[in-house]
Parts: sequence; structure tokens; C-alpha cells
Amino acid sequence: MLAASGRGTRSGLPINKAFFPVDGICPLARCLIAFREHAQGAVICISESDEGEFAKIKPVCDLIMPYRIAYGGETRADSVRSGLASLGDECELVAIHDAARPYVTGELIERVFAAAEESGAAIPAISVTDTVVSAEEDVRYLNRDNLRAVQTPQAFRKSIIAEAYASVGADGFTDDGSVAAAAGHPVAIVEGEQTNIKLTYAHQFCRGEPPARPLSATFAHSREPRASPWLAPTVTVGFGYDVHQLVQGRALVLCGVTVPHTRGLLGHSDADAAMHALCDAILGAASLGDIGKHFPDSDPAYGGIYSVELLKRVVNLVESRGFRVNNADITIAAQRPKIAKYIGDMRNKLAESMRIDVNYVSVKATTTERLGFVGREEGIAAYAVCSLTHLVGGV
Ligand code: MG
Repeated sequence: MLAASGRGTRSGLPINKAFFPVDGICPLARCLIAFREHAQGAVICISESDEGEFAKIKPVCDLIMPYRIAYGGETRADSVRSGLASLGDECELVAIHDAARPYVTGELIERVFAAAEESGAAIPAISVTDTVVSAEEDVRYLNRDNLRAVQTPQAFRKSIIAEAYASVGADGFTDDGSVAAAAGHPVAIVEGEQTNIKLTYAHQFCRGEPPARPLSATFAHSREPRASPWLAPTVTVGFGYDVHQLVQGRALVLCGVTVPHTRGLLGHSDADAAMHALCDAILGAASLGDIGKHFPDSDPAYGGIYSVELLKRVVNLVESRGFRVNNADITIAAQRPKIAKYIGDMRNKLAESMRIDVNYVSVKATTTERLGFVGREEGIAAYAVCSLTHLVGGV
């Protein structure tokens, strides 16, 4: 069971940290990968307010292992109760894991399961390396030799933890082992892992910062080491190019923004050459052909279609194949009109359509010094590059 319904306010991140990508993959999906060879299925406890975030990673989760969703309540205890209630009678042992600990290894999962099978309740813990004091009244130094920092996953016979949650209020408990202990069950301790850190603060999510345990290391340590191209996040790059003719009597639409001009682009759709170049770049990065293949101009359904709709469909398509758009950079080649003052609106429109941060969307404009068909104002050309991350390969 993965507990992912907390708000993680200490992280200061704009979204639930369980969904915030680190090294190209969010902690929740990485946890699922860790468990997939060690559990028959998973229950993912999320808050209803995170349904939208989960929808983005659902195609990836669907490929990793069988799971069901349980909607959490106000507190962690409510979430765990909800998850436990969703388990079938066939489930005898359950591991409860914080989705913010994505670097858990298969060895640790096996260790807690084995101990729980024997004792009914088991938690991983590591020795404390910092000096620890009690700051309640007078500062008192504690003997760290007897102290342990508790981690997850914590494993239990389902009947034990379900009864414990039913009999104990669980308010004020910060883990499941303490709930079992309060209900009178002895709890076994197994050796945890120093690398099994709990992602808590924003700096631990910084783009480009090396993860505490790269995916390759996770699998190098797993019980059955495997080459893992299937699981490695891969960055791909795509390129797109499009040209449309400038004619009288048409609106000029570029990157979804209507630009005032005496002429517009001719085409079956709104003829937004910049949007078409971007769609082709995204499809190209996913090796999924081009927009002519997916939205043929022979199909009346696409007559006059606002190309923003095409972009949204293209993004949905690549996301359904496990890709995420990282960034895009578009260059529009037009002798006239001047594009500069519309670039902000264009970037916002594209970012919104692709559901990515506007800081990862670039639009530039250039003339061609009156050379060629662009220079003669016969048409407008657009070039686009983008990069995608493929979270699960081999799809
Ligand atoms: Mg076109």
C-alpha cells in the first residue's frame, strides 16, 4: 500500500511531492517499480484533489503492476484505513509505504515481509548518526546507541494492522508500527537502509540534482538484477517544420493566437503553421508519424479546426504512450507582420495546451531578410524542436 495522500507542505512544491518528478520519474511511480516484483498488487492511497495529477501518470502506473486506488481522508491514518478497507480477503500480508521514499530496494521489502510473516508486525529502522537531544525542558543528551530512526515500508499481517487501526484512535501516530504497538502487538525491527530517504524538502527535488539512488543502482541491488531499458527514463528529441501560403481573406493564427494582419494562412484547418510544426515535433519525438497521419486534411472533421485542439490531442496521445513533454522551442519565419508583442500570449497558450510550465516553452520570430518565399511574403514557415521524457520504455 502506497500512502500518497499527504500534502507535503514542508516541501513547498506546487503539487503533491509524490507526483513531482525527480530524475524524470515521480516518487509514486518509482515506488511502484520497486514493489512490482515483490507484491501481487498495490493499493495507492491518494487524495481526491490529486486525481488530475494521478491521471497524468496513470498510463505509466498501468504498465508497472496491478493496483487499485483508495481515496484518503484528512489524515494519514484515514488514508491507511481506507486502503486497508479496500484489500480483499485473500491478502494476508500488507506492506505500508510512504510514496515519498522512492529509493526503497527489493531487499528491504523482502526483509520486512519475511519478518512480518514470522512476527505479525515489522518495521525497518536505521541507527542515528547525529547527536540527539531532548529539547522539552532542559536540554538533555540522549544515548544514540539505543535510538533508531524508523522508515517504511512497514509490513503486517493484515488482520493485525486492521484491528489495530480499528481499536486505536491513531491520532498523533506518525507511522503504522506505533499503531500496532499501541494496540498491544509486539513489533519486530529489521535493518533499514541509509539510502531509503524520505523526500521532504524542495531542494531534494531540484532539477538536475543527482538522485540519492539512481534507478540503475536500484536495480543493480535488486534480488534479480536485470538490464532495465524497460524502466529507464529516456529523453527523446523531435523536430517539425511547416509552411502555409499567405492569402487574402483569412485570419492569421500562429501558436493559437490571432495576429492582426492584412492576410492570413491558407489551409484546411486554421493553417497555424507554428502549431503544426510543434505537433510534428512532438509526434516525431515519440516516433508516432506526423499530424497528416493522425488528422488527415481529407477528413472533414478537421476542416477549420482550431489547431490548439490538435496540439491537445497530440499531447494526450504521447502521454498515453508513457511520454511527457519537457520543453518546446519554436521559430516562426515571417517577413511581416511583427510577431514580438504576441509572443507572451503564444507561450502561455502553448504551455496551457501542453500542461507544462511556461518557462519550458519558447517562441521566437525572425524575418528572412526579404529572401525566398518568406521574404516575398508569399507564406510563413515555422520550425519546432521539443524534448520528451519516456518514463517507461519498450511500450
Ligand atoms: Mg500545416
